[in-house]
Amino acid sequence: MNTYVSPTPDITSLRTDSDRLWEALMEMAKLGATPKGGVNRQALTDLERKGRDLFIQWCRAEGCTIRIDNIGNIFARREGSDPNAKAVMAGSHLDSQPTGGKYDGCFGVLSGLEVIRTLNQHNITTQSPIEVVAWTNEEGCRFPPCMMGSGVFTGELAFDAMMARADADGVTVSDALDAIHYRGSDNVSPSEIKAYFEPHIEQGPILEDTDTTIGVVIGGLGQKWFDLTLTGLEAHAGPTPMNLRRDAMMGAAEVTQALNRIAFDHQPHGRGTVGCMTLHPGSRNVIPGQVKMTLDMRHWEPEALETMGQAVAAAVEEICQRHGLEYHLEPTANFAPEYFDKACVDAVRQSTEHLELSHMDIISGAGHDAMFVGRVAPAAMIFIPCKDGISHNEIESATPEHVHAGCNVLLHAMLNAAGIVSSVGGTGE
Ligand SMILES: [Zn+2]
Repeated sequence: MNTYVSPTPDITSLRTDSDRLWEALMEMAKLGATPKGGVNRQALTDLERKGRDLFIQWCRAEGCTIRIDNIGNIFARREGSDPNAKAVMAGSHLDSQPTGGKYDGCFGVLSGLEVIRTLNQHNITTQSPIEVVAWTNEEGCRFPPCMMGSGVFTGELAFDAMMARADADGVTVSDALDAIHYRGSDNVSPSEIKAYFEPHIEQGPILEDTDTTIGVVIGGLGQKWFDLTLTGLEAHAGPTPMNLRRDAMMGAAEVTQALNRIAFDHQPHGRGTVGCMTLHPGSRNVIPGQVKMTLDMRHWEPEALETMGQAVAAAVEEICQRHGLEYHLEPTANFAPEYFDKACVDAVRQSTEHLELSHMDIISGAGHDAMFVGRVAPAAMIFIPCKDGISHNEIESATPEHVHAGCNVLLHAMLNAAGIVSSVGGTGE
């Protein structure tokens, strides 16, 4: 400790430590590291437990208090000067896809930790507490649905129903939480949040394509998901003439094309994807009698998303009539577009401008914990580019420069929202 109080350092020139953040990312990536350079650290496994333990160990070393709620979300808190002030929060998730990358999720959580390390190093007191959160099971690959922890936290997903969700081996979320000792009893309420910021890799190609460092995320696309079952009649591929077939696969092919056309008709924001398809009976010389497929539609405007949904339903009806098929079209998800809080978005944009980084407004096409948090508290996101726009892949990659830039944008957005009380000399230890 210095024997004198040095002048208050210029907060505007404050920067996070790029090497320290990078080391933390690489250290975390060792847990579940895959041969191709990625990560397999699925939610509530023992490997993910190690990631949680490591995160908590790092936060405790910075003097944070830890709270864990009933779905295993971890909150690490650095107190501010005002005991009644709401927290300025940052976070994301530590779980990964089976063939995931090092940055999806961890970049957000560890950037939040790096902000706390930076504030400690420079003895900076904020008015509001600073809190970093690691949400449980964002990926949803072991236990669907995705964004489970933030969904339960915000009341968008029912706690009891989520605890009963089972993985492919029949292990429930409840069992898995107990097995890794992360079923917490702390009550953390969305009403405690003043502002929530989530840094994340873009998971798309736009920033890289436009050579832009920071995406100021103004919100997320709305989503409509359906399960579609088309039923025709299986018959021998040889003796059955073309005009007498009820070929479910022909219906599926035309529905796929229709969905694609409808998405193109609703540019620039429309998206349409058939991601799964199973054919029954699945024999090379049998006309498929049944096809089950998924439809995923997204748009930025609620009316357009509604129109897309109606257009797809009409196309399914028409196609099935023409091919003599029966169908069942079942909605499985319906999320309105998320428009982030203007003050939070402005805080991100201002800190980007302050840091003189290239930036653009961007809309997230993927779901993130921030979308749920944004429904109950002011929220925004910070995107950085990822190589070739690829994520959910072991080759997922981001540069140290972009990681550092995104973390500094987070630092200044959080300081802006939290308010500085004092900062005393030295660079600390
Ligand atoms: Zn993610």
